[in-house]
Amino acid sequence: MSPRAAAASPANVSDVRRRNVSEALRSVIRAGRTTRATLAAECGVSVASATNLVGDLIAEGLIVEAGVASSRGGRPVTFLQPNPAGAYFVGADVGERGVAVELFDLQMNRVDREFRGGRTEEQIETIGDDLDAALEALQTRHPEAWTRLVGIGLALPGIVETDADGRQILYAQSLGWPPVDVADLVSQPLRIFAENGAKTQAMAELWDGAARGLSEALVVLLGRGVGLGIISDGELAHGLTSSAGEWGHLKIERGGRLCRCGGRGCVEAYLGADAILSAWREAGGRPDGSGWRAIGELLDADRAGDAVAVAVVDEIVATLGSALGGLVNLTNPERVVIGGWVGLRLMETLQHRIEAATRAEALRRPGGQFDLRPSAFGGDTVALGAALMPLEALIADPRASSPRS
Ligand SMILES: [Zn+2]
Repeated sequence: MSPRAAAASPANVSDVRRRNVSEALRSVIRAGRTTRATLAAECGVSVASATNLVGDLIAEGLIVEAGVASSRGGRPVTFLQPNPAGAYFVGADVGERGVAVELFDLQMNRVDREFRGGRTEEQIETIGDDLDAALEALQTRHPEAWTRLVGIGLALPGIVETDADGRQILYAQSLGWPPVDVADLVSQPLRIFAENGAKTQAMAELWDGAARGLSEALVVLLGRGVGLGIISDGELAHGLTSSAGEWGHLKIERGGRLCRCGGRGCVEAYLGADAILSAWREAGGRPDGSGWRAIGELLDADRAGDAVAVAVVDEIVATLGSALGGLVNLTNPERVVIGGWVGLRLMETLQHRIEAATRAEALRRPGGQFDLRPSAFGGDTVALGAALMPLEALIADPRASSPRS
């Protein structure tokens, strides 16, 4: 990853410098707090070069000096950190029932959050309105951030393809929506980046979460829908156009339960929130609503020894174990990360059972080579991952992307 200054020839010095500036900015943001000497080592350049790169980034207003400490040799060392107000990013988790729109600063702190929706069934026509209203509310509260806003990342519930002209189209078959041009979802003149929500969750875990530094990992999203991000060779896998990781529609029972995608026997038809609660209802349970609280009631009843809930939860663990065991065989991960609001709830009490069921259903070798962890960021991982898309655009071109006020 680190570009080496030694590779420079007179023809590409400016390219190398641009890459080194990007690499230096990435290092400072990921470290949170660092020094010129550490940056030099990470970017593979001399301390003198690192000092120049830092000078550029300070001039752009993207990093700032942050305190001095005396080193062992007695010479003071100046710390560097991202300038929180140097740039801002919006990440939006576009769910089926509403949109959670979050504003982040350059330290990737969440500055503010706006939720719109809460309908029982979100239609594609209303999502654009909800996004616009949420953006307007955030802009009104943080006008200064809007002058340095790099763009908005949208995490969407479906397959997101980018065509040769850079146009992005959402295909949300499970929700019964027609293909949507992503640019039509936001009225403000912002740079828009879009990706599937399970993939943005994986991006966040890879950036600074439970998959940070890993080369091979699976990041599972269990919510109303079921999704997956496959990290292979340290990168998020997309496949030919982007559907890689659509594990929610892998058939685990031929001719089984009807799935929202129109198929039968998909993983989502057993492990999506609605599927779990219908299974409980069919067995005689009485969930309160269809959300977080209802899933919690099922798990509480299981722990209290309620026979119906115990049987339903045993079935969920066994089904999740076989669906994950197959994935472990296919991808040989070092770690399986479970997120999404249903996944996090399950992991609170069932982590060890899920891990054991997955090992039992995988081949012995790959089944003994992974660990299983909950998502590091709780419920807001998807929006954070979406905000990483405009952040990456800034890192790729710090001068072009940093707006000047
Ligand atoms: Zn399906």
